[in-house]
Amino acid sequence: MTEIKATVVLGKGKEQSLQRFHPWVFSGAIQKIEGAVNEGDLVKVISSNREFLAIGHYQVGSIAVRVISFKDVPVDAAFWKARLAGAVALRLSLGLLNSDQTNVFRLVHGEGDDMPGLVIDFYNGTAVLQAHSVGMFLIRIELAQLLKDILGDRLAAVYDKSDKTLPLKAAVRPENEYLLGNSPSAVVKEYGNSFHVDWVEGQKTGFFIDQRENRHLVQQYASGRDVLNMFCYSGGFSFYALRGGARMVHSVDASAKAIELTDRNVALNFQDDPRHTSYLADAFEFMRGIKDKYDLIILDPPAFAKHRNALHQALQAYKKLNARAFEEIRPGGIVFTFSCSQVVSKEKFREAVFSGAAISGRQVRILHQLNQPADHPVNIYHPEGEYLKGLVLCVD
Ligand code: SAH
Repeated sequence: MTEIKATVVLGKGKEQSLQRFHPWVFSGAIQKIEGAVNEGDLVKVISSNREFLAIGHYQVGSIAVRVISFKDVPVDAAFWKARLAGAVALRLSLGLLNSDQTNVFRLVHGEGDDMPGLVIDFYNGTAVLQAHSVGMFLIRIELAQLLKDILGDRLAAVYDKSDKTLPLKAAVRPENEYLLGNSPSAVVKEYGNSFHVDWVEGQKTGFFIDQRENRHLVQQYASGRDVLNMFCYSGGFSFYALRGGARMVHSVDASAKAIELTDRNVALNFQDDPRHTSYLADAFEFMRGIKDKYDLIILDPPAFAKHRNALHQALQAYKKLNARAFEEIRPGGIVFTFSCSQVVSKEKFREAVFSGAAISGRQVRILHQLNQPADHPVNIYHPEGEYLKGLVLCVD
């Protein structure tokens, strides 16, 4: 956990991004590695003049080192405990760890919490951990124990769900398992709404926590409107719309599991509310027959671009999807539109939505510009961490 195994020497002039505290070293910046190194090892990074730059986790691939510290300090249990305690303290100050209305939030957000490669979500006493780097994966058991030391009775279990987040070629073969305790799926609360969360079977860590504040905003706009919640997953936006007094809410997703979850969650919060119907359908198919049917449309698609080379296609898809919504919505309608693709910048997303608006020929105004909530902080030196962007638009 603590021993530094090798020294990564950067090429001439390649130290600048680290001097600006960007937490990644790309493989192309490396001149040589001194010492035997395995994936996940702690390494020291130095400049071509042999000046200390950083300590980080080594990994095979384009991001070769994820920086853990820009100071030459021991990276031991006390170090990790302080980092985790810092993340916990932030959530306390955000009113998340001590709220009776919301007990689901992100506890550790990678680079945003100075722990590149580590994500931990908190579900009413169960922490779901995802390692995105081998280095974090190798110390997951220690991290789980340290979190328990910090949270005490507030933490009943830690579930490791790293099977899909580590690079396919990584030297370790993770199997999802409880690292501590063992709690089945749970009912969690977000702004007083209840949700079934199944971290074992569900997508990501079980729930799209990052849309909390944006879902809450939908509640304000829902009164008297006919609502389409496209890409609904577990139905989040739909509950807020129902709560906000929507006249009718339709939830659509192409995954049968997602529709099942949505129906279960509607039953949990609103019994058999006749205002709600869910549809198992493809978004582009469904949106063919919706002319003037809705006056609030939510578009929260999956990341259309997971990699930079899919960027062009993704932008086209955002354009097409948004154009459809603008064309079909009733006058005076509201569109909530999102992108969670990390490689699609705020500007590029906005351009795609603008192009969609132009295709529709409607008058479109921006009412809100949305992003990820404060429990998903963005390290200012790591702009890539700002992945969720959204616009609320009024379509006349
Ligand atoms: N809005 C949700 C999260 C959406 S995640 C929330 O607040 O929790 C994206 C969802 O899009 C997933 O559930 C996925 O099943 C669904 N999806 C992916 N492709 C789709 C398509 N072509 N048509 C409809 N749904 C799709």
